[in-house]
Amino acid sequence: MRLRLVLGDQLSLSLSSLRDAKPGEDVILLAEVREEATYVRHHKKKIAFLFSAMRHFAEALRSLGHRVVYVNYDSAENTGSLFGEVLRLMEAETVSELIVTKPGEYRLLDEMESWQERLGMPVELREDDRFLCSSEGFQEWASGRKSLRLEYFYREMRRDHAILMESDKPLGGQWNYDHDNRKKAPKELDVPAPFSVEPDRVTEEVLALVTDQFPEHFGDLQPFSLAVTREDALKTLDQFVAERLGKFGDYQDAMVQGEPWMFHSHISFYLNCGLLLPLECVRAAERAYFDGTAPLNSVEGFIRQIVGWREFIRGIYWLSMPDYAGLNYFEASRNLPEFYWTGETQMNCLHQCIVETKANAYAHHIQRLMVIGNFSLLAGLAPKQVSEWYLAVYADAYEWAELPNVNGMILFADGGLFASKPYAASGAYINRMSNYCEHCSYSHATKTGEKACPFNYLYWNFLHQNEEKLRGNPRVSMIYRSWDKMSDSKKNEIRSDSRRFLAQLDGTQA
Ligand SMILES: Cc1cc2nc3c(=O)[nH]c(=O)nc-3n(C[C@H](O)[C@H](O)[C@H](O)COP(=O)(O)OP(=O)(O)OC[C@H]3O[C@@H](n4cnc5c(N)ncnc54)[C@H](O)[C@@H]3O)c2cc1C
Ligand code: SF4
Repeated sequence: MRLRLVLGDQLSLSLSSLRDAKPGEDVILLAEVREEATYVRHHKKKIAFLFSAMRHFAEALRSLGHRVVYVNYDSAENTGSLFGEVLRLMEAETVSELIVTKPGEYRLLDEMESWQERLGMPVELREDDRFLCSSEGFQEWASGRKSLRLEYFYREMRRDHAILMESDKPLGGQWNYDHDNRKKAPKELDVPAPFSVEPDRVTEEVLALVTDQFPEHFGDLQPFSLAVTREDALKTLDQFVAERLGKFGDYQDAMVQGEPWMFHSHISFYLNCGLLLPLECVRAAERAYFDGTAPLNSVEGFIRQIVGWREFIRGIYWLSMPDYAGLNYFEASRNLPEFYWTGETQMNCLHQCIVETKANAYAHHIQRLMVIGNFSLLAGLAPKQVSEWYLAVYADAYEWAELPNVNGMILFADGGLFASKPYAASGAYINRMSNYCEHCSYSHATKTGEKACPFNYLYWNFLHQNEEKLRGNPRVSMIYRSWDKMSDSKKNEIRSDSRRFLAQLDGTQA
């Protein structure tokens, strides 16, 4: 009998390890194990989402006639590790071979590569071909290039998969409509409610389990309304295309107090665990353009996130691991402030984004990048701690996606492997793209002093402190000219405000 192990983020019927599975001949194992659920303290909603999606997937496999062994988290026999569960099944049954699709995380792949020897049985690790670009394909693309830039990779993906193309030309004449996608939200904006699903009996059982077993983990478990089946994940995609895609482009970078979901798709949860596949999401958006229900700036912008950023980020991960996880270009070492777990800070933008993260296990990209990420960079937070936080708090977070976003996009800890400059910004950016500043006790327009927005002085302080590493960067050198023109007294105020603020931060108050 062949044993096929399916991991929690491999919930696709088309998975490579299941492709040739034969009902009656093979057994499929899914296990909720302590090692995976607790190696960081994942958000309660993330654990509930994955356990419920796994249980529903097991049912879907059974309904196709497969024999499934499903190990519940609180089963008395559960050994707590994937290896332990494979071994336990091998001891109970005659297993001739183990087949697994390669895991998305380096840590687990590294471990699984030793399983054949440890189990004394053939172990076949199959490629995960649910991505549009294989890790080898990305390596080939990257080899010999002086710099790795999303834009060139993205164009190749569009050509290779004939997405938004007119023969060999991009539809509409341009590859990228990003310049149209930076509108601030108007005061009156009707944001559709996100797609939500009532928990069924299986989800209710999982919610009770998570309440019981993970009380110390971050985040609010209730209300829980995520999709946990492929059918409902597809409905989430359909609702996005019908109700949100049209404005996705315009308000892609906008942030509005009390509107955590905006016009984003909320499909990362489902894409990353396999309930949705990237190309079907891309084709659904493309169809909306051809049907005339969504404009090109929205459709292209959305498609770029999936065939561009998502694939690119994964490529960077496999290209650069394991060293990538230890990079720290700016030698940043500040501990993560306590308010990252509570949201208790006077800085309204951070307060909103963290409180929403706690409630939903979700924040949209600009909240992650330009509020929490930007602050993490300017405050000099230690990359490993930041990375662990992002991995724990979002229900779509897996190391392959989270780590390059943290070490590459927000912290520039990789020294610019794929970003041409750090995404550092003052309060002016946040004020331009949101209404958070209207509700803040700090003033975004004030540059120094007690009332000044901390982003304003921390921005210059960061540039000053890292001058040696950044002045030579052609995209930053202009900014240093403004620093050079600043009076000494202004520079001193910036430095002393930053010292005061960061000292308070170390005492966990901001
Ligand atoms: C510091 C940081 C950490 C992040 N960690 C994760 C993570 O662990 N998992 C994750 O899926 N995304 C991560 N992202 C990317 C992005 O923020 C989320 O994919 C997005 O917010 C998910 O919401 P959505 O589905 O509504 O996305 P939309 O805005 O609707 O975008 C559509 C899809 O594009 C993909 N996508 C967009 N941007 C990225 C990106 N930079 N990297 C990878 N995929 C992208 C996602 O699959 C997303 O579902 C991170 C971004 C930052 C700045
Ligand atoms: S004033 Fe500064 S801290 Fe307050 S919301 Fe605006 S950017 Fe954030």
